[in-house]
Order: sequence, then C-alpha cells, then structure tokens
Amino acid sequence: MSSAIQFDPIRLPPEAEALRAEVRAFLNEEIAAGTFDPVTAPYRDGFNPEFSRRVGERGWIGMTWPKKYGGQERSFLERYVVTEEFRAVSAPTRVHFTADRQSGPVLIKYAPDHIKDDILPRITRGECCFCIGMSEPGSGSDLFAASTRATRTDGGFLINGAKVWTSSAHRADYMIGLFRTSASTEENRRHGLTQFLVDMKNTKGITVNPIHHMTGIHEFNEVVFEDAFVPEENVLGEVDSAWKQATSELAYERSGPERFLETIYILTELVRALGDKPDTRGAEGIGRLVAQLHTLRRMSVSVNGMLQAGKEPTLEGSIVKDLGTNWEQDLPAKARQLAAFVDDDAGNRADFDELLRFATMIAPKLTIQGGTREILRGIIARGLGLR
Ligand SMILES: Cc1cc2nc3c(=O)[nH]c(=O)nc-3n(C[C@H](O)[C@H](O)[C@H](O)COP(=O)(O)OP(=O)(O)OC[C@H]3O[C@@H](n4cnc5c(N)ncnc54)[C@H](O)[C@@H]3O)c2cc1C
Repeated sequence: MSSAIQFDPIRLPPEAEALRAEVRAFLNEEIAAGTFDPVTAPYRDGFNPEFSRRVGERGWIGMTWPKKYGGQERSFLERYVVTEEFRAVSAPTRVHFTADRQSGPVLIKYAPDHIKDDILPRITRGECCFCIGMSEPGSGSDLFAASTRATRTDGGFLINGAKVWTSSAHRADYMIGLFRTSASTEENRRHGLTQFLVDMKNTKGITVNPIHHMTGIHEFNEVVFEDAFVPEENVLGEVDSAWKQATSELAYERSGPERFLETIYILTELVRALGDKPDTRGAEGIGRLVAQLHTLRRMSVSVNGMLQAGKEPTLEGSIVKDLGTNWEQDLPAKARQLAAFVDDDAGNRADFDELLRFATMIAPKLTIQGGTREILRGIIARGLGLR
C-alpha cells in the first residue's frame, strides 16, 4: 500500500492564537453594532460589502499574499484562525471569501503583472467579489468534459456556452472560468482547456440567471455566454493546459475549516439547549461530536501547515473535505436526536428548531459543492494505491 497520505502534526503557533483574540474582539464589536446576528445570519445570503471592507482594513483578506499586492505575508495558519473564527459565528464573508481563498492565489500564479497590480489590492480591500466558472450543464464531476468554447478572434477570445451552479455570479466582479480552447487529444483527454479571467460587470454577452435553492436563498446561478469577448491578456497560464492549474486550485478549496463549519451553529445551539447539566446521553453525544470535530480540525490545520510549507496537499485536502462534509451532513439528525427530550421552554428552543430545519435543508449540498463525495473517494482511493 502507498504511503502517499501524510498529515504533518502541526499546532497553531502563538502568533496565530494571539490573532484569534484580535479577530474575536472585532467580531464581537460587529455583532454588538448589529452588523449581523450569529443566530439569524445562516438564513441571510452573506453578502455585506461594508463588512468586507472593514475586514480588508484589518488586513485579513489575502493575508498570506505578498505585501506588494496588498497582502500581509502572514502564514496559512494565521489565515486558518481568521476563517475559523468567522465561520464559528456565521459572519457574512461572501463578498470576499472566494477571492481570498482561491481566485487571488490563481491570479498570483498565472495572471500578467498589470492584472495582479490592479485586482489583487482591490481584493485585499474587500472590494472584489469573484465566482468560479467550472461546472456546466453537461460537465460537473467530469470537469474535463467542459464544452463552453473560447474561440480565437482579433485580440482575444469569444466565449459561447453556459456555466451552471455558479455561486455568487449575480454579485461577482470577476469570474475565473474554465473554457474549451481546443479538442482533447487521444494521448491526453484533459488537454484543450484554458483558464480565463472574465470581467462580469463590463463584458457584453453575459446573462446571469438566478437559481434559488430549496431554502429560498439565491446562492448560485446559470451563466450564459453569447459571443462574450475576453481579451488575450486575460488568459491565465498556458492555453490548452488549464488542467494542471484547475486541479491545484482545488487543494485550497477543499481543505479549510469552512468544510466542516458551515452549519456549526447547530452544535453551538445544541450545547445551549442541553444547558449546564446535560443528561448522560446528551453529554456523551456532545462529547462524541466535539471529539470528531477536534480531529477534523487537527487534520485541516495540518493541511494548512502543508500549504504553508509550499506543498500541494490535494489528497489530504480531499480527505478533510470528505470526512468534514459527511460529519456536517449528519449533524442536524444527531442534534435532533440528542435534543429530543429538551424542555420546550429551554431558552433557545425556538431558534434551535428553526436552525435545525434550515440546516437539514442545506445538508445535501455539503457533499456536492466543491467536488462530490464519490469523486473525493476516487481521489483518496488513488492516493491509497487502490485504483
Ligand atoms: C451549493 C453549491 C455551490 C456550487 N458552486 C459552484 C461554483 O461556484 N462553481 C462551479 O463551477 N460549480 C459549483 N457547484 C457545482 C458542483 O461543483 C457540482 O455540482 C459537482 O461538481 C457535481 O457535478 P454535477 O452536479 O454535474 O453532478 P455529476 O457530475 O453529474 O454527478 C452526479 C452523481 O454521479 C456521481 N459521479 C459522477 N462521476 C462519478 C465517478 N467518476 N465515479 C463515481 N461517481 C460519480 C457524483 O458523485 C454524483 O453523485 C456548486 C454546487 C453546489 C451544490
């Protein structure tokens, strides 16, 4: 059996823990000022440009990036702490989160200098919202079957086709899109795709059609391209070779604490509902959930430590996402059972029931977004040398 899987045992350094206190104080101020309420925030769409700007002023967006692009050159472990604290209270980070997590790092690696100089500082100021254009009506898991075409024309490319499930496209300033620039080859079926930076606000021929999920929230969209012109300079990396780039982006997307903290409010409210003196069953149940969460957290910290060390932990990131999203998907049902005998007049009973209802409705998406359970398990099996 291969020993390709490795979780370095990493602990958060003192500067990361010091930062935690600062982040908590900031979030408490924001909550006190009424910017958001951790109990009702899950029902909102999470877009708050003013809040994102204030986060940017603190230096907490693009915080691992070079200073010349507005970054802070801080570690992935410090970024981990910021993400964790924001998620723990469901802070509204949708304006900046995708750009911070993955679009900015792609630009740093592959964009020409003048684009980096222009866009990266705006991201760090919390002024830029990004979306990811990978999935299409006929290609989701099989990214390399993408058929939305970018055809060469004078000075650039014309894009035709559609992307689907594109989170935040209705608010995004930019998309990083994966488009077909030539056919795949017999030797390499992944050949022929190119990554582009698309200006979503100033490009003619782009229509964003909303898709509401069953909670009623408008999170994702269909994006239709009809002869949408993208200049040559917006090609990211090598034409026809995006498969090398798009897969390394996924290590950032799959490994963070957001992969098991999207509905963490359920655990928080469960602890509150069971109170200071839970019965044996409640105490055992919470103990089990917290121990599992702690393990996931150690694994996710480890992946971030490996990112900090310049490694590309795609496999370990997939394990964190698979375990984390499955844990989180089961959380509402477990919490419902553990709270079955809680008094109806427990202080937070109404909030807890409402949040439970909401988390139950969004649970199915957790193991689909960012790569499905089956796809992740295929990657893990390959890493274990099983396929
Ligand atoms: C909330 C949410 C937000 C999203 N945001 C974005 C976004 O911003 N940008 C974007 O590009 N996409 C986004 N997606 C799309 C997401 O990445 C895809 O839905 C996902 O990759 C699956 O693709 P699909 O829906 O086409 O399903 P399919 O690929 O058709 O899969 C259908 C089923 O078949 C299984 N399956 C497929 N291939 C295999 C295989 N080889 N082996 C075993 N089983 C297999 C899958 O696991 C799944 O259960 C989002 C999805 C959700 C739910």
